[in-house]
Amino acid sequence: MEENLSKFIFCKDCGKKLSVNAITCPECGNPLKGTNLNSQSEPNRFVITLLLCWFLGIFGIHRFYTGHTTIGIIQLLTLGGCAIWTLIDFIIIVSGGFKDSDGNAIKYN
Ligand SMILES: [Zn+2]
Repeated sequence: MEENLSKFIFCKDCGKKLSVNAITCPECGNPLKGTNLNSQSEPNRFVITLLLCWFLGIFGIHRFYTGHTTIGIIQLLTLGGCAIWTLIDFIIIVSGGFKDSDGNAIKYN
């Protein structure tokens, strides 16, 4: 029973219980790609990354947060490449082109 529960998602628009493998919602026809839990947390992740970069970016904290540990350490040691690297990262994050270490874009939906 519990094992089955984890294999279902709920349609963001109509709340219908669906298989995680469903591509569109049969109830409302809504495309489900990007409606799973991961993408629902994306606006949050975007905001957190943006704030971390703005306030703690010279310490590379936004890089640690998004899984780029090596780059994070380099930025920490160089104070964000004299803040220039941090500024570039900030612009990339704002423009939606920043990716985490898994290659997922961090952008506001
Ligand atoms: Zn639906």
